Amino acid sequence: MAKKAFNTIVVKVGSSSLTDPQGKLDLNNLKRLVADIAELVKLKKKVVLVTSGSIVCGAEALNLGKPKTIPEKQAAAAVGQSRLMRQYEKAFEKYDLTVAQILLTRDAIADRERYLNARHCFDALLAKGVVPIVNENDTVAIDEIKIGDNDNLAALTASLIGADLLVLMTDVDGFYMKNEEGISYLAEEIQEIDQDVEEAAGHPSTQLGTGGMITKLQAAKVCANTGAHMAIINSRKPGLLKKLITGEKVGTFFLPKASKMDSRKRWLAHGLTVEGTLTVDSGAESALLKKNTSLLPVGIKEIKGKFSAGALVSITDESGKELARGLVELPSEELIKMIGKKGVGEAVHRDNLVIL
Ligand code: GLU
Repeated sequence: MAKKAFNTIVVKVGSSSLTDPQGKLDLNNLKRLVADIAELVKLKKKVVLVTSGSIVCGAEALNLGKPKTIPEKQAAAAVGQSRLMRQYEKAFEKYDLTVAQILLTRDAIADRERYLNARHCFDALLAKGVVPIVNENDTVAIDEIKIGDNDNLAALTASLIGADLLVLMTDVDGFYMKNEEGISYLAEEIQEIDQDVEEAAGHPSTQLGTGGMITKLQAAKVCANTGAHMAIINSRKPGLLKKLITGEKVGTFFLPKASKMDSRKRWLAHGLTVEGTLTVDSGAESALLKKNTSLLPVGIKEIKGKFSAGALVSITDESGKELARGLVELPSEELIKMIGKKGVGEAVHRDNLVIL
């Protein structure tokens, strides 16, 4: 792979990397990971750490076994988060590094003002050489408003701060594909997340983390769309982070589709939750993709979902392939009456539209 300067890097460490075979916090691996991250900071990189492990840590402290109910998980997260941070704080202190805790939720990311507040906070911390440590605020995030897994949280964080690279550290060497004989091999570089790649993601591979490879691919799509590189590397092998950013072949690299989107477009594309779908005809498709126009009702074939004005919708072609996302000008019940009509205003204004 061509060497690329990665200056702002988000590193995500999953529960499986922080847990020993007995299901307890693996302090040795945590310390080793911190040593690797400290090395990047010494190379003048701006690093944000997204960590799982609060529930594992809290469950251990409360003798809960594997927490089952939502309140149990929330209680475990509340106890575990501060214990986890204490360990990180101590481990980073050895390298004279200060850490900061940032707990994010889906609604904080979806709200433009809170999103910008969070970004300013990250900027200020990184300017001071602090290592922000991010987790989801599990105590308030119930299913409906949950990001749900830290692979997606890490990708949204990378998009929020405009990172050049997201590194997902996990318990395998990278992303495995299958060759024609059905034999698995480690993919060094993935240029496009096509059907073969989707199929190779298969089923979640670890029990402790939330996602396995499926959520890692979701994260890779966010990075590819917004213009960041992403890598999956093994969290148990020392020194890989430095190797990765100095251009050595480790793990699997996912390449971005295009250059980095500007900040507002990144938020539009992935900060909000998609509330509906507009299927468009080929005329509207080429106007959107080639001429950078607004989406007009005349080009819409079908509308799915119930949404209000200002909601985020996905714009797809007739085969269901997502082309763009954008904020609608009108609620679904109004828009539906205008399908296929000319001269009735805009469905999505070009300034509120992002091509994927
Ligand atoms: N936020 C959860 C925790 O700290 C982890 C979610 C995940 O593993 O993806 O335990």
